[in-house]
Amino acid sequence: MTEAARSSRRTVIMGLGSLGALGLAGCAIGTRSGAPPLPPLRLQMSRVARITVCLRPFRAAGPRLEVETVGDKRVVHNYGHGGSGWSLAWGSSTIATGMALEGGTREVAVIGCGALGLTSALLLRRAGARVTIYAKERLPQTRSARATGTWSPDSRIAATDSVTPTFPAQWEEMARTSYATYQSYIGLPGEPVAMSDRYVLFDDAVQPTPAGPNISAEEVHFASYGQRLAGLTSPYRYLPTNENPFPVAHARVGTSMQFNIAALGQRLTDDFLREGGQIVDMTFDTPADLARLREPVVVNCTGYGARALWKDESVVPVRGQIAWLMPQPEVRYGLFYRHVLMLPHPEGIVVQETGRNDMYGYGNADEAPDRSEAATAMATIAPLYR
Ligand SMILES: Cc1cc2nc3c(=O)[nH]c(=O)nc-3n(C[C@H](O)[C@H](O)[C@H](O)COP(=O)(O)OP(=O)(O)OC[C@H]3O[C@@H](n4cnc5c(N)ncnc54)[C@H](O)[C@@H]3O)c2cc1C
Repeated sequence: MTEAARSSRRTVIMGLGSLGALGLAGCAIGTRSGAPPLPPLRLQMSRVARITVCLRPFRAAGPRLEVETVGDKRVVHNYGHGGSGWSLAWGSSTIATGMALEGGTREVAVIGCGALGLTSALLLRRAGARVTIYAKERLPQTRSARATGTWSPDSRIAATDSVTPTFPAQWEEMARTSYATYQSYIGLPGEPVAMSDRYVLFDDAVQPTPAGPNISAEEVHFASYGQRLAGLTSPYRYLPTNENPFPVAHARVGTSMQFNIAALGQRLTDDFLREGGQIVDMTFDTPADLARLREPVVVNCTGYGARALWKDESVVPVRGQIAWLMPQPEVRYGLFYRHVLMLPHPEGIVVQETGRNDMYGYGNADEAPDRSEAATAMATIAPLYR
């Protein structure tokens, strides 16, 4: 891979961003002349508060956004958003809401209380429908709570060779709608959404990287649509040596959107309940169980759960693990170095091995935490703070 390609992929992983405003407070790292001070991370394993594992619900054809009739119910599917579920949620749910309200129904059930369920339910409620969410788990128990929390609208969203010709434009519409909607959450109490600086760091030599146990010989050609959002966000900027605060040869910096999921999930849940929505605990074992519901229209936002409930084997798990370090409120920047991503949230600091490419974790449904993966990720970025 060329340096430009490596750099571009890392920029996408860190979120498509704009020029970074630097100058952060705290104990300085970076000894070169002109380097902005950055507070250091406290990277001891003893500071790992928890390790979480999540499964990205990847579909080669992209998210399932279509209508199906099950018994006397009209079911609108809204699942399969890979590593982009938070980023695309408002846009995808806007499309699903339109489908659900076609025909004039004003009573709608939403199955699922993750990113897609909550945004669908809020949009339906705001469109005047009577809405109840039925779900096995609510945030923070849903898989959505275990996401990194960055703007990543085309992370494992589809395979280039499996989408319909209209999908890229639909993806763009979803991404733009979501981005615009999230702007209104910036600056709210608890910072449900924020903009943060990110550093993409790389050495002179290409580093050997762990292949990971799950890299398949037949790699998926994951779709990459970031170019379609040109103008929405600005590119990262290369930092000259005297501005590079890290002991590495090369650094790029930009600013990107981040989702502080504890606060965002709470906010969406509270808004929905305050605006008259209801949440009911319920598990569906087969689609026939939908007959229990009084609502004639059901929006199905079951995420990875759709694989079992709808026997949809087009949903492939892509495992991802996060070590959550105890919060350091003074750390307000993220970084990406040797395939390890770090992003601070009020609820804790994400340290995540991302693998040498997007196949990392593909086909792996093991949700057991792997402490050695966490330790390796921490050790990888530790030299940045020596
Ligand atoms: C490590 C990792 C990091 C990620 N980081 C990001 C990121 O930074 N940005 C981003 O945009 N995306 C990210 N993602 C992707 C994102 O987390 C998912 O796309 C998103 O959470 C999917 O949301 P969802 O609402 O469809 O599913 P879920 O959050 O899984 O919610 C499904 C809901 O349906 C319910 N349900 C399921 N089956 C049933 C059933 N049979 N009966 C009743 N209820 C049921 C569940 O209880 C739950 O309430 C990441 C994913 C991983 C794995």
